[in-house]
Amino acid sequence: MDANIQVMAEDHSYATIVLPIDNNNKDRWHRIEEIVDGRAYYDWDVFYKYTDEEFAKARLFRVRINKTVEPCGEECGTVYDDRQACPICGSGRVQKGPLILSKVSTLGKVDVCKTIGGEIIVSKRFQELVGKYSLRGMLFLPILVKGIPSQLFMQLTAKDSVDISHETRFGIDYFDSVNIPYNDERKINICGHEITMPKEIYVCPNQDLMGLNLLSELYITEESYQSHSFDLARTAQYVGVKRGLLRPEPLYVCTKAFYEMVKHEKILGMDFEIAKIVKPKTYCLS
Ligand SMILES: [Zn+2]
Repeated sequence: MDANIQVMAEDHSYATIVLPIDNNNKDRWHRIEEIVDGRAYYDWDVFYKYTDEEFAKARLFRVRINKTVEPCGEECGTVYDDRQACPICGSGRVQKGPLILSKVSTLGKVDVCKTIGGEIIVSKRFQELVGKYSLRGMLFLPILVKGIPSQLFMQLTAKDSVDISHETRFGIDYFDSVNIPYNDERKINICGHEITMPKEIYVCPNQDLMGLNLLSELYITEESYQSHSFDLARTAQYVGVKRGLLRPEPLYVCTKAFYEMVKHEKILGMDFEIAKIVKPKTYCLS
């Protein structure tokens, strides 16, 4: 299995660099940077390339929702209970009442997308297919558009949660070896304007926020996986940052039944990575 690192160049075009998964990638990247004189590294994403056999053997998948839309619920009057959010990192605020949006017309041809606030929007077709395939663990909630429940779209939430195992790697940058826990207030220059960025928390001492970005495949504890019967679940831990309208978000995992339904019905808007189910390590002292 290889990692495809997608990088954005100065002219905003994208290039994909394929790197094997091992501990030498930092050195490889530094050599690439030297070749392009440090100009390639403005944005990045990681995609894993699996064999058919690896997919066939997998029991659990990480769900990646590709399309992000605006506006989000907070901009349109959706009510949240921030008292239940972590006072340090802002993870875990609770939505009270229906998701309120001014429009959902930007969904286009996809059946699944999410807002920049992390709310998942699905088409009625998606909801009907979940019922047809008897998939478990999902709640569909109404979306109010200009005060009227949408007939075309629903908000999707996952009822059950699973735990992220410590094998999973998080950080700011794919090539960082340390998961930097926070950034102090700092001034940055954007197009000649000096902007003050407030302090940001990336790793919370309350252990609910794991990091700014997921850098590895996702590892889930076997105990939490076995304690629920679901086809879609969220992680109990969060990833991301509280910044403006952004909030830390859970990651999502699904079973093979969910994955096969999406592929068979050609549902658009999601990609999948293999998620690993791991047992806790035991150590024998003699
Ligand atoms: Zn926290």
